[in-house]
Amino acid sequence: NAKEQASSSYQFYSRKMNERFHKRMELENHLRKAIENEELRLLYQPVVDSYTGQIVGLESLLRWHNPHLGHVPPSDFIPVAEETGLILEIGEWVLKEACKQNKIWQVAGLPKMFISVNLSSRQFNDSRLSRTIQQILEETELLPQYLELEITESMTMDVRVALDTLYELKKLGVQIAMDDFGTGYSSLGYLKDYPIDKMKIDQSFIKGLQHNQVNAAIVNTMIAMAHNLGLQVVAEGVETEEELHLLKDYGCGLLQGYYFSPPTDVERIVELITP
Ligand code: C2E
Ligand code: MG
Ligand code: MG
Ligand code: MG
Repeated sequence: NAKEQASSSYQFYSRKMNERFHKRMELENHLRKAIENEELRLLYQPVVDSYTGQIVGLESLLRWHNPHLGHVPPSDFIPVAEETGLILEIGEWVLKEACKQNKIWQVAGLPKMFISVNLSSRQFNDSRLSRTIQQILEETELLPQYLELEITESMTMDVRVALDTLYELKKLGVQIAMDDFGTGYSSLGYLKDYPIDKMKIDQSFIKGLQHNQVNAAIVNTMIAMAHNLGLQVVAEGVETEEELHLLKDYGCGLLQGYYFSPPTDVERIVELITP
């Protein structure tokens, strides 16, 4: 009967929720020890100059391999790190690792390039952020112009706070990029007021560009607007030659995506950036 059914479906959902809760607890507990157990590492994805074809920068992308959980994608563990506050420690590890690595390549005499690091909302809103970054730059002896910080529209709720933070970061001399551009809200207002250097057009606009007149119009307009505002533009998620050609036609200066290279480990990156 209906009552039994309701009760068994309740039990079903409650069991499901229990499982989910358990999984999440398990992930959280493992994540707490991920740094000290050396389970985290960074991959680097080239950012390419669309005219010369040269690699001019690298985006650092975090990877987590845990012996019990296997490979856990950032889309699964970054939100947990964010909710628990673990992202502050993890984010600091990422910043240090990326700066250290870039300095190593520079000291080795490889062509100088910027390294970009994704910031999470919690990091961006942490009052110690700019001091932490300043310390890391001093420690690693990386010049600030070779570090780029990627922020997103959705982590900048309070415009005043965001402006203060961004100006503090700009004072350090680092570059600021707006990641996943076009997927957030009120993008235009931010672009006008925020001291950013670069716009990264979200990959959802790039996919199949040549078959989608609406996306093509949007991307073309975004690029023109960015240039009028004095910003550099990166197209994310470039996978095909057709996309590449259109983006070049539109004057997009920087490109990133599987067409050029997936996120890649340190050893292989050295081969890619060695002239
Ligand atoms: P994101 O910053 O927008 O990074 C780009 C994502 O797109 C990466 O996924 C990259 O592997 C993927 N990608 C690059 N080229 C292509 C392409 O041509 N086609 C397709 N389909 N995908 C492409 P990934 O590494 O899984 O990272 C996902 C997101 O996780 C990142 O998006 C970023 O928001 C976040 N994330 C990654 N590493 C960190 C980190 O160290 N700190 C923080 N806070 N977030 C991170
Ligand atoms: Mg990014
Ligand atoms: Mg992102
Ligand atoms: Mg992105």
